[in-house]
Amino acid sequence: MDFPTSCPGCGSENRVEFADNSVHDVTCARCGARYCVFLRKQKFEVLFDLGTRALMDGYAREAVASFSAALERFMEFYVRATTLERAAGSDMDFVAALDALDGTWRHVASQSERQLGMFALAYLLREGREPDFLTPRGLGTDFRNRVIHRGSLPTRAEVEAYAAAVFALIDRVLTELGPGAAHAELAQEQAFAAHVAALPDGVTVVFEEHPGMFRARRFGAPAPQPKSPKPATGGRPVNDAQAFQTALFRRALEERGPQLERFKGQAMRRGS
Ligand SMILES: [Zn+2]
Repeated sequence: MDFPTSCPGCGSENRVEFADNSVHDVTCARCGARYCVFLRKQKFEVLFDLGTRALMDGYAREAVASFSAALERFMEFYVRATTLERAAGSDMDFVAALDALDGTWRHVASQSERQLGMFALAYLLREGREPDFLTPRGLGTDFRNRVIHRGSLPTRAEVEAYAAAVFALIDRVLTELGPGAAHAELAQEQAFAAHVAALPDGVTVVFEEHPGMFRARRFGAPAPQPKSPKPATGGRPVNDAQAFQTALFRRALEERGPQLERFKGQAMRRGS
């Protein structure tokens, strides 16, 4: 999957593939200028947006894999953010904390069940309560496994319901996390800085901030309010409110979907 970038030399568009580390070294096809695009976006956001785009384009089944991966990467993001947040409140050096975190994550990196366990504990430690939304129903586990492992062909409505559940879960936990998310973003900024320092002379550095399903929320825009039923915020388990989830997702799609569409096809509008 690729996205458009704009050459800082001649302004022409070069499409580049999303890189795993959000760092994209580009040579302009027209003028040969070299530039490096740093995408300020977390992996779970990229994956969720890819899923949304697949769904909008009618690839319902393909969308499921992206939504599922988005959820897993979100749990990793949460573990990273809360661990670094905790370290920031202690005497521990940020780099040392990051090293310890990376080392620890290697023990769980290849098994999603272990990662789920890490997330559950991280949530308990930060919020002081059980992550009651981590039920198979809340996570859409059966549906996901049917589609991904058993080749089931889901309807668009089923995929939308799954996307809505994943969206609501991430949105809720992100809201609880609040400014805590900045700690994981700082780690990304640090990785970017290391890459910038190693770039040869003559390469232009470009930082991009793409629109996405979660961005507006992260910058303090008001939450999408469903018309009905009443939002199930507070103590109610997120999986008890499918209507709320669907309304939340649809509203977000209405607000931000056109941005995704534009960013997919045409020249992108540069963020800050
Ligand atoms: Zn160029």
